[in-house]
Amino acid sequence: MTQQTEVLIVGGGIWGLSAAYHLSKFGQKDVLVLERNDDIAAETTPQAAGLVGQIRPSVTMLQAIRYALDLFSQFPRETGHDPGLRRTGSLMVALTPERMDAYARQIERSHRNGIEADFVSHAEMARLAPALDVTQIEGGYFVPNDGYLDPHQCALAYAAAAKDLGVQIQLNTPVTGFRQRNGEILGVETENGFIGANHLVITAGPWGAGLAKKVGATVAAQPIRHQRARTVPTPGIPDYHPAVRVTDVSCYLRPDKGGYLYGFFEPTPVSIDLEAMPPNFRTGDIEPPVAVMAEAQRRLAPTFPILKDLEIAEYRRGITTFAPDGAYLIGPVPGIDRLYLATGCAALGIAGSAAVGRWLANWIIDGDSGEDLTMFSPERFGSQAADQGWLRRESEQFYANYYGIRTDE
Ligand SMILES: Cc1cc2nc3c(=O)[nH]c(=O)nc-3n(C[C@H](O)[C@H](O)[C@H](O)COP(=O)(O)OP(=O)(O)OC[C@H]3O[C@@H](n4cnc5c(N)ncnc54)[C@H](O)[C@@H]3O)c2cc1C
Repeated sequence: MTQQTEVLIVGGGIWGLSAAYHLSKFGQKDVLVLERNDDIAAETTPQAAGLVGQIRPSVTMLQAIRYALDLFSQFPRETGHDPGLRRTGSLMVALTPERMDAYARQIERSHRNGIEADFVSHAEMARLAPALDVTQIEGGYFVPNDGYLDPHQCALAYAAAAKDLGVQIQLNTPVTGFRQRNGEILGVETENGFIGANHLVITAGPWGAGLAKKVGATVAAQPIRHQRARTVPTPGIPDYHPAVRVTDVSCYLRPDKGGYLYGFFEPTPVSIDLEAMPPNFRTGDIEPPVAVMAEAQRRLAPTFPILKDLEIAEYRRGITTFAPDGAYLIGPVPGIDRLYLATGCAALGIAGSAAVGRWLANWIIDGDSGEDLTMFSPERFGSQAADQGWLRRESEQFYANYYGIRTDE
């Protein structure tokens, strides 16, 4: 007998699992998540640094992250599963007067949107992050309600809560195609046969645009490598140590497993052509980014000299997906009823996962995301989305300037 479900989610990373959790929480319990791997959350999601920071140029994203912080804080009480949020704040470090001006604009904007954020003294920065050499920095500000978490633990918490509410998760089931009739989605083809669905969501991370192509949709999503490293443990990192962003050198750092975890948006990004890769290509096949992280360490050394003395215990690398304007690609797939897509995480998919799951669940249950999300429309680039050179150039530029100074905030 053909398997049939009300909602089928393709991809069991943090976005698919959050969508499953929100659907079941809002009353839709006939939900099946299909994951090609033998485990959920084993591709981009577990590679992430897990920073959940509210300082965002758009009000939609700022509110999305605030929703995540609220949800993650209440999750253990509401569901019995712990996403592991540590709410120790964000410290934004400036190395130049220009950056201090940009930070002043960000603080003003934060206040307008109800986010606590204020400049702090050099002494306070040294207290918050004792390894920070404050003599090297111009100044900085602190966002006390930000946090960070272990992204794998968070994804497993969504999955466990969804399963408690009746969601099914099927592993080892790669989706190979879609079945549609007269512009209506009917279900998916898998290596194990056809599965019917009334509503379908593609949350396949960097593989999402490739899957959308199978139904004729061209989505402007560029897979770009992103990386981080973790040092061996070192004494003296306080429990209250915040996530630190040294934006002038495109780096971030936070405590992890007794050492420091740091990540880097390099100026010459490395795009990954997934269509040229074998179908069984996995995140783990990417070479450890030793040289890139050595450059990150060199850039961080003036502010965090301790890093020079700490060996690397682990390299992590994954594939983030960028649209040319750095905004998510979420919404109905044009031309096919009841098919939705969510990709283009822009290295912000852990922090955004809560809102992404809620938007998708609202779309499926109510036919409306509940907010104006035209800024994320997968159609917004029109025919230009098919221009591979443009897509790659613009998306890489966005990645390289991730922490660039913006005048519009
Ligand atoms: C080094 C690094 C640091 C990061 N730091 C942060 C951070 O600090 N904060 C933050 O918010 N974000 C961060 N991110 C981004 C974050 O990891 C992603 O945004 C997020 O994991 C995206 O989740 P996803 O579910 O869309 O994708 P994925 O986790 O990749 O999940 C997609 C799933 O779909 C499955 N799939 C693919 N094709 C098929 C198919 N045909 N059939 C069935 N299943 C399929 C895959 O196997 C996978 O399990 C970071 C990323 C990296 C790499």
